[in-house]
Amino acid sequence: MNRQEMIALLGSLNSVWGTSGHEQAVGDRLGEYLADCTDEQFEDALGNRFFVKTGTHPDFKVMVSAHMDEIGFIVQDIWDDGYVAFLPVGMHDTRLLVNQVLTVHTACGDVEGVVGIKPVHQGGPAGGAPTYTDLKLDVGTFSRADTEALGIRPGDPITNERGWRMLGDNVFSGKAVDNRAGCAAMIAAMRQLKDLKLDATVVCCGSAMEEMGVKGSGPAAQRIRPDVAICLDVCFGAADGEINANNRRNELGKGPALMFYDWNNTSCLGNIVPQRLRTAMVDAAEAAGCPYQIGVTMNCGTDAAMIAYAGIGILTGGIGIPNRYMHSAVGTVCVDDVLHAGEILAHFIKDAAMHFEIQN
Ligand SMILES: [Zn+2]
Repeated sequence: MNRQEMIALLGSLNSVWGTSGHEQAVGDRLGEYLADCTDEQFEDALGNRFFVKTGTHPDFKVMVSAHMDEIGFIVQDIWDDGYVAFLPVGMHDTRLLVNQVLTVHTACGDVEGVVGIKPVHQGGPAGGAPTYTDLKLDVGTFSRADTEALGIRPGDPITNERGWRMLGDNVFSGKAVDNRAGCAAMIAAMRQLKDLKLDATVVCCGSAMEEMGVKGSGPAAQRIRPDVAICLDVCFGAADGEINANNRRNELGKGPALMFYDWNNTSCLGNIVPQRLRTAMVDAAEAAGCPYQIGVTMNCGTDAAMIAYAGIGILTGGIGIPNRYMHSAVGTVCVDDVLHAGEILAHFIKDAAMHFEIQN
């Protein structure tokens, strides 16, 4: 896959919507790209999607996980004046919601609305970040009945309305790079392996409900019971020169980060990658000839935290794609980093049986 093909893939994946619990369109799109490079597809009760490429050793399994869901919102209520009250799905900074266009996905179709505030001439908003009581979605109606007539109901999912764009020729910005970038890397790896007969059976999982607290991947891993797993997600991309006390710097354009440690000290979710898997991940990056960084980070929990502790425990590592402005409508990733994540993953999969089968 070249850069232009990756830009098209990222654009395609960013153009479908899928908040937590509503990942169907994303899963269907993954299925379109993976149909001719996997042997079997299925779905579980949570909405996790599985794509299996059977190897010569069907019992030796590599699981690749990339969450399909994006952050968004959910309709909570409809005010008497027609405004739509909503709650978060995933972690948000409410300051980013002002001046935003949101799309409500109703049973009768999509409805756009805007989130505004009192004009600056009238003093603007009160100080501090707005709360979900302050924020109202204006869908152009003036009564509850009018809003209901548009099909809007409590429980309807809401997404950021934001197309994608290239910034220069190597930086992709969009509302759902977390984690369509990981999905794209998974697709790139499987397309690279398309015509190879592998030792390992590869089970790609487009996981559900990561943004709601890494809900889908644990049950998915229990079903697959892989020998080794790699989780693809975004990681914090530092601005050049930025020093962040919590995070080793992972810069855009310097390669994907091999995630050796992530831990959220609030939820205590996290993953520490054992040495033999760290060695195999570095070997894969070196064999691929790709630039890479090491990811040692806090407060960036991923599916890896659930996969590692599923069942009797699973050897689990992560590949992080540096992402600036995480959890906003303007997240950015470097296209080459996504390509390199796919190449490193492809090499890891090719050599996984050699690295791990004997021990299992
Ligand atoms: Zn996220």
